[in-house]
Amino acid sequence: MNDNFTFKKHGYFRGMVITLLLALSLVLFHQCTQQPHTAYQKIKDTADAIRIINAHEHQHWPEEYGDLSYRFYHLIHSSYLMSDIVSAGGTRMDMGQIDSLSLEAHWDINGQALNYTRNTSYYSHFIKGFQKLYNFDDLYFTESNIPILSAQIEKNYQDYRSWFDSSFHKAGFELMFNDQYWKPFNTEIDERYFALVFHINPLVMHASNFPSPEDTVMIYYKAAGEGYLMNTLDDYLTYCDHLFQKNIAHEAVCVKNSLTYSRSLDFEEVSYETASTIFNKRSAKLTRGESKQIQDFMFHWIIQKSIHYDLPIQIHTGYLAGNGNNLENGKPVKLNNLFLKYPEARFVLFHGGYPWTGEYAALGKMFPNVYLDIVWLPQISREKAVLALDEMLDCVPYNKFFWGGDCAFIEESVGSLEYGKEVLAEVLASRIERGLLTDDVAFDIVKKVLRENAVEVFNLEERLNREF
Ligand SMILES: [Zn+2]
Repeated sequence: MNDNFTFKKHGYFRGMVITLLLALSLVLFHQCTQQPHTAYQKIKDTADAIRIINAHEHQHWPEEYGDLSYRFYHLIHSSYLMSDIVSAGGTRMDMGQIDSLSLEAHWDINGQALNYTRNTSYYSHFIKGFQKLYNFDDLYFTESNIPILSAQIEKNYQDYRSWFDSSFHKAGFELMFNDQYWKPFNTEIDERYFALVFHINPLVMHASNFPSPEDTVMIYYKAAGEGYLMNTLDDYLTYCDHLFQKNIAHEAVCVKNSLTYSRSLDFEEVSYETASTIFNKRSAKLTRGESKQIQDFMFHWIIQKSIHYDLPIQIHTGYLAGNGNNLENGKPVKLNNLFLKYPEARFVLFHGGYPWTGEYAALGKMFPNVYLDIVWLPQISREKAVLALDEMLDCVPYNKFFWGGDCAFIEESVGSLEYGKEVLAEVLASRIERGLLTDDVAFDIVKKVLRENAVEVFNLEERLNREF
């Protein structure tokens, strides 16, 4: 055998191998740089291009809390994360205490508990907001990065309205439904960002709270201020109807019931005669059963009015914010009798009914008049939201879903939107990869959940075409 030939042959093969390796590397490099074409990224890109209709928020202007200079710990205390910090052993403070302490003192009090929450969705969706709006790219809040972040917050909050405006648009929001539960009789909102939500808790709860002459229960006080007598149940209903009309005049998009923070979601049928008799007793004389009966009567009356005025009814179900309440109050199946009795009403159930996500989905599947707003579920538990949404998409048609943020300030809303998009993208990408969905239907689902379903069900078309 000719050695020279063998050498040449080896050299030829070596060249071939190198060329092949180079070609392979180029293909791999190309695939890596083609990440945007993975199913997940394509859905995420679709979501990022949508002008979001956020069907539930509690946005405040900072001045509503008083004359405050907002810093990091003011936002922490106003965020959902504070509940996890308390759950981990931390201390909740009032705004005055927060104002008076240095960042170091805050860290000494709550730093360890804050660190124990680094695994929760409340923590990680909150940090997403700062990553999106502040170019904050650390994974965690630490004693050393908080002062820089806090100084940026303080600067932005000196002109919060400008900061809100730029953040609102940067995140891709077009409209937020604002539930002002802390001032439920206010009908003035900034229409450039918000749609009015008619918060009906006081109409229900105050019916069992007919005051002694020396008391000032809010609805009676407001009614007196507007010249309405409140001596009988009929008077009370006349004033409540006036509140409906006032909210509609200000283009309220829906009614909101978050009564599960105060009582159970089972609303029995109570006759007008019984309600009328109970109404005439002073609140101190009512038994617990009687209080519940007049409240039940009022919510049925509100559903009938919502049908008359064509307003969807949003209802908080499941888990409750804060650090102490009766979880059982919010079990979604307690509402079953209402869905049967009022087929013309449109009910929108909130929060995935967590932890009863299965029965929540079953109600959406069974009733044409029950819609599902997964608002807040990704912040309560991102992984549960992924599992539950996958299950819901197995059984509920996708024209019945909405998304919302449920937050009090813009950083948290932006973080919640990022989480909402991630959950949608993860669920839908997995369904595409498993052959359960095509790309085009997955894209349609994203558009429907984040925008189009809300436009249709809440009749937003004309409002969205208006210039502000
Ligand atoms: Zn809410």
